[in-house]
Amino acid sequence: MPSPVPSASQTPVPTGPLLVTGGAGYIGSHTVRLLRSLGVETIVVDDLSTGHAAAVDGDFEQLDLGDLEALKDCFQRRRPAAVVHFAARCYVGESVTDPASYYLANVHHTWNLLEAMRAADCRDIVFSSSCATYGEPQFVPLTEDHPQLPISPYGKTKLHMEHMLDDYARAYGLRFAALRYFNAAGASADGRLGEVHEPETHLIPLALQVALGQRAELLIFGGDYDTPDGTCIRDYIHVEDLADAHLRALGKLQAGTQCLQVNLGTGDGYSVQEVIDGARRATGHPIPARIVERRPGDPPRLLAGGSRAIEQLGWQPRRSDLDAIIQDAWNFMRAHPKGYDV
Ligand code: UDP
Repeated sequence: MPSPVPSASQTPVPTGPLLVTGGAGYIGSHTVRLLRSLGVETIVVDDLSTGHAAAVDGDFEQLDLGDLEALKDCFQRRRPAAVVHFAARCYVGESVTDPASYYLANVHHTWNLLEAMRAADCRDIVFSSSCATYGEPQFVPLTEDHPQLPISPYGKTKLHMEHMLDDYARAYGLRFAALRYFNAAGASADGRLGEVHEPETHLIPLALQVALGQRAELLIFGGDYDTPDGTCIRDYIHVEDLADAHLRALGKLQAGTQCLQVNLGTGDGYSVQEVIDGARRATGHPIPARIVERRPGDPPRLLAGGSRAIEQLGWQPRRSDLDAIIQDAWNFMRAHPKGYDV
């Protein structure tokens, strides 16, 4: 049945130029590409600490968000109409062992960004939040009004960032969208952009690295969860669907909405075992997998609930069925077996 939701090309096009922090990263690069395909001017700001120059489309300033003066100078020179803020550190495990770098990169650098915006009278920001802000699920699916009690420093920094935006909105008239991603996955349909993390910790790229012969086996973190096959269930959302949601959120803010807090997921979950089976189907490789200990902090099920995305953004996922996600990720990995550098 055709979707009642307009496609990205039918929604109002945001007014640029847009300053995109972390636009050399995974979700940022896909979003920049979508915006530019619609004729929106973008300025990518990225320090390339984890991003990739080869993933950047268009205008690029290599800049560390820790450098407030350089950031303010960039805002004065470029006069962006709005900001899309992807730049952040995003490993839950690393945030436990090295919280200082998370509070610096996520909280302090966001404060710098908000101050640079304030100095330049730039008022609109779309921000990458996370389902990690909810913490241990008290009920599933997780609606936007689920209590936000994050358990990892990563989730806590993302919640701090949401609070900063909220306080700046009340005091200074900032307009913001906090988009709470579930499990970002997939790659651009043409295989040009995709997920390249060093080290890689995410399930789908790891499974595909086994299929490429780069790893001997996949480790399944826990096989005794209270789920039908005993492995964890997650809500995988295609990166191009995420990019589309940013476009819509920008349009809403620029039309006058002051505050949006929205889950981005499908509401459907797949178990680790189902993902591995999907990767086997897509690649034709047996992908050996072995059950090991649970990973600390992994709840059995994380699923997006709530209807705000469709009600407030007119957004719903289009490419997020598991086979499409894995096929796109596989196309990218075959084209870039060693990442962007080769
Ligand atoms: N997972 C796994 N083996 C791996 C990596 C991940 O079993 O090598 C599981 C993980 O425990 C979780 C799911 O796959 O249940 C998704 O994990 P991922 O790290 O991709 O995303 P997260 O949910 O942590 O954001």
